[in-house]
Amino acid sequence: MASASDLMTLSWRIKERADFTTVEFSGEIDKNTDFSELSTRLQGHVVFHLQQVHRINSCGVREWVNFVRELPNVEELTFSHCSPAIVAQLNMIYNFRGAAKLRSFYAPYICDTCNIEVTKLLDIETSFPNRGENEPPEFNCERCSKPLEFDDLPDHYLAFLAEA
Ligand SMILES: [Zn+2]
Repeated sequence: MASASDLMTLSWRIKERADFTTVEFSGEIDKNTDFSELSTRLQGHVVFHLQQVHRINSCGVREWVNFVRELPNVEELTFSHCSPAIVAQLNMIYNFRGAAKLRSFYAPYICDTCNIEVTKLLDIETSFPNRGENEPPEFNCERCSKPLEFDDLPDHYLAFLAEA
């Protein structure tokens, strides 16, 4: 079992592939997050997998913004599987993504009939062919087959797409 402090600290797992590198982040970004070793190690085309980043506090935002701005050997950066916490920062912090391209993110849906929340992974290119229109794709509930409702204000949650 991981202890509470282990769960909070940000960790990452690096997977080297033939022509790109994936970094899977997990945990919480705060003032104790030290990216210095990672920033010099990464090179070429890098994909950040951000599904497991659950929280970022204001000190963490500062660390992150400096990190993505100073990646000396990274030629191309992509954010993939952005968690709702990452989406919130993309909407609030102008330079949170640095030069990164955005590939996909998680969005909250709800079924009023079954009273369940469902998180859907949305690929930006296929789900939002017309950027800035902020029309979330439609899904049906897997239990009752009725349409799911988007569980946030689309203009708010999807605002970052205008710059993606
Ligand atoms: Zn349902």
